Amino acid sequence: MRYSQMLIPTTKETPAEAEVVSHQLLLRGGFIRKLTSGLYTYLPLGLAAMQKVESIVREEMNRAGAQELLMPMVQPADLWQESGRWKKYGPELLRFKDRHERDYCLGPTHEEVVTDIARRELHSYRQLPMNLYQIQTKFRDEIRPRFGLMRGREFVMKDAYSFDVSDEEAGKSYQKMYEAYTRIFKRCGLEFRPVEADSGTIGGSFSHEFMVLADTGEDTLVICKSCDYAANVEKAKVVPGNTEPTDQALQECVKVETPGMKKVDRVADFLGVTPKEVIKTMIYLADGEPVAVLVRGDREVQSVKLKNLLHAADVELAEDDAVWKLTKLPVGYIGPVAIPIKLIADQEVMQMVNAVAGACEKGHHLTGVNPGRDFTPAMTGDLRQITVEDPCPLCGGTLELTEGIEVGHIFKLGTNYSQALAATFQDKEGCQQPFVMGCYGIGVSRVVAAAIEQNHDKNGIVFPLPLAPVQIIVLNLSLKNEETTAAAEKLYMDLQAAGLDVLYDDRDERPGSKFKDADLLGIPYRVTVGKTWEKEGLVELRLRRSGDTSTIAYDQAAVEIAAMVRAEMQSTEKVDL
Ligand code: ATP
Ligand code: MG
Repeated sequence: MRYSQMLIPTTKETPAEAEVVSHQLLLRGGFIRKLTSGLYTYLPLGLAAMQKVESIVREEMNRAGAQELLMPMVQPADLWQESGRWKKYGPELLRFKDRHERDYCLGPTHEEVVTDIARRELHSYRQLPMNLYQIQTKFRDEIRPRFGLMRGREFVMKDAYSFDVSDEEAGKSYQKMYEAYTRIFKRCGLEFRPVEADSGTIGGSFSHEFMVLADTGEDTLVICKSCDYAANVEKAKVVPGNTEPTDQALQECVKVETPGMKKVDRVADFLGVTPKEVIKTMIYLADGEPVAVLVRGDREVQSVKLKNLLHAADVELAEDDAVWKLTKLPVGYIGPVAIPIKLIADQEVMQMVNAVAGACEKGHHLTGVNPGRDFTPAMTGDLRQITVEDPCPLCGGTLELTEGIEVGHIFKLGTNYSQALAATFQDKEGCQQPFVMGCYGIGVSRVVAAAIEQNHDKNGIVFPLPLAPVQIIVLNLSLKNEETTAAAEKLYMDLQAAGLDVLYDDRDERPGSKFKDADLLGIPYRVTVGKTWEKEGLVELRLRRSGDTSTIAYDQAAVEIAAMVRAEMQSTEKVDL
């Protein structure tokens, strides 16, 4: 690759629209360009980086015995109606009609299509287990596309689907994918952590997310300092506190004036109690229906837990004016006693005694509120966000919170899809059984962004070698000198012949800007041919990550450098689990 002929439109300025560093550097390095919200063109180097991820993914999926196929991106509505997701999926599913007025969608994921293949093509237990995967563009009409490749509307995913004869066998397929993912992310050079996760819209009983640890992550993880427990906060189980019955005398429930006191802290202050003694009542819309959710005043509702408890497709906190329109209840003074809408309480609320709560009347609260006596929720459960004060649900140890970027997600699906689509095989006894399924995703394009979040410095990207779009850049610093140019060209050709991905900077630019671009692009190895070659027959090698430089005799340069790069690559390919 000759730099002078390539499309690598680097820029000095940081684009204002880019909030996170991976987005900034991908734009500045000329890796991607935005077409419109959530849609990006991968320019040549961006595509090359993504293809590096793809090949690692492919190698490891194949090693694990999975087979690659390619399914259509456009999917007919009938399949989604069969699975029940045409209704459930919501506005992330981009739907449209063809010229015959038939309904279609752009595939956000492929459970329906692959289950359809299984029911047509897999008939006997002898064909199982089978794991089918593809690497393909997905479309999700994300409500907030942002952070460049991190959350696009169109993005590249590796999705795999396993078919097994039993739960036990499906567990083995899951374990294989868990190991394959561990190998993949290790080979990508990422610092990551598998965590227990919520199963989301795809449904299923069990799942792990693979999280790249980075401050800009959209997910929060809880990790135990003493044992192996790690979970997404959406899932992390709060251990119920003291459930012993109280011997405290129950007070009368009394209405008190609390003019203008809408927030927990202010009410607590005003009444001389702590927020722990206040019941916070929040109105959520669960698939459009209002529900009142109760947590202790110092706690936060975890909406994914709420969604799961209610078996809802979607829950959101109601806006203040919607609360009034839907419930005619005064925002800031809503409480659980005699409330006319469905009441859902966090388990901890049920242990509260003589609490303060809204009176469902403007400017008033109640004191002496006692769950069970003064109100009975329709449902109770673990609904609140875990905190670092909570004990580890496994070992009781201390927890810490950290941010992460979800790069992979594996699910045990069970028979949800095979039953809905009547996808069965004949077992050993000759009976028809639904396939026991699993599904496994990797955000291939997101991996590139996540790698940059973890690997950059003030000068630009510092690609881990396995993901670098080019492994080495050869800088010709004396373009006008014919001999130097001939020597630089030969080195470029020799490195390429040795099997390396090489970029040859043959541009008529000042050395300073060549160095800057090489740093910005994050190319792991840089070799310069210039004055030292002219005087002493030496070239200079510099490593992007450490900044270490050394000189090498020109005659040995190609062989020595190729051997170094190869050795480093081999060390990344050798993964011990
Ligand atoms: P998220 O919670 O980030 O929306 P998800 O749970 O919807 O992710 P899955 O359905 O499990 O994601 O998709 C598999 C993988 O695809 C994810 O682990 C993630 O790496 C990637 N992915 C999902 N949505 C996007 C997106 N909008 N842009 C880029 N990658 C994505
Ligand atoms: Mg999503």
